Amino acid sequence: MIGKRNPTGVVLFGPPGSGKGTQAKLLTERLRLPHVSTGDMLREHIALGDALGLEVREVIKAGNLVPDPLVIRLVEDRLDRPDCEAGVLLDGFPRTIDQARMLLGMAEGRGLRLLVIHLKVDYDVITARLTGRRVCPQCGTLYNIRLKPPIVPGRCNIEGARLIIREDDKESVIRQRLVAYDAQTMPVLEFFAAHVRFFEVDGSDRKPEDLSNEIVNWIQSAADDAEFDSASGEGL
Ligand code: AMP
Repeated sequence: MIGKRNPTGVVLFGPPGSGKGTQAKLLTERLRLPHVSTGDMLREHIALGDALGLEVREVIKAGNLVPDPLVIRLVEDRLDRPDCEAGVLLDGFPRTIDQARMLLGMAEGRGLRLLVIHLKVDYDVITARLTGRRVCPQCGTLYNIRLKPPIVPGRCNIEGARLIIREDDKESVIRQRLVAYDAQTMPVLEFFAAHVRFFEVDGSDRKPEDLSNEIVNWIQSAADDAEFDSASGEGL
């Protein structure tokens, strides 16, 4: 079991629109791990209008990646908080080889086992998902006007707030985000495959709850194996 005796860093890895956010919301409750999304953290800074927010706003709007040192610092500070002692659920990090190296080093330093879930999704499905995506600005609930519409059009089922379209969910920006994914983030997969436990699922055509069950089963068995490994002194 994941816990303070067996701290685990679960990494949700995949292209934009692969369902990382949706899975993160389901998994954070089931695994009782804090959900750390670098995209959410960066958007919070943009909403605050602070120095970091001003620095990254245009980069995100254009569909490019924020420079490594900025993101790495955010993650380091976040992982230092006490709620991350038993582990963490990372969503949208790492996205470059340098970020992955830093995460591996941090995990080693803190005795954190890394388990990586790769959500594979067809790029046509991604474009359809992201162009229809709507978000509640208050509670962050995700909708899709075609695939998962709210009960009242344009309003959050929970808050009643008017749903918004993320600035980077325009079709031209989506294309650029996928270009950045192919160029900078895909190579991280090979790096992970060589260094950590790794699970691949096809999320193109699955109900989020079914996918989440499959992921939880794998995480639990991988975490239990890791506990056995460390008890027998073998490590990964
Ligand atoms: P997301 O919500 O994860 O899709 O992230 C939205 C945007 O935030 C991305 O398109 C990037 O511009 C930026 N971003 C989020 N996480 C990272 C990261 N780990 N490295 C660099 N940029 C990031």
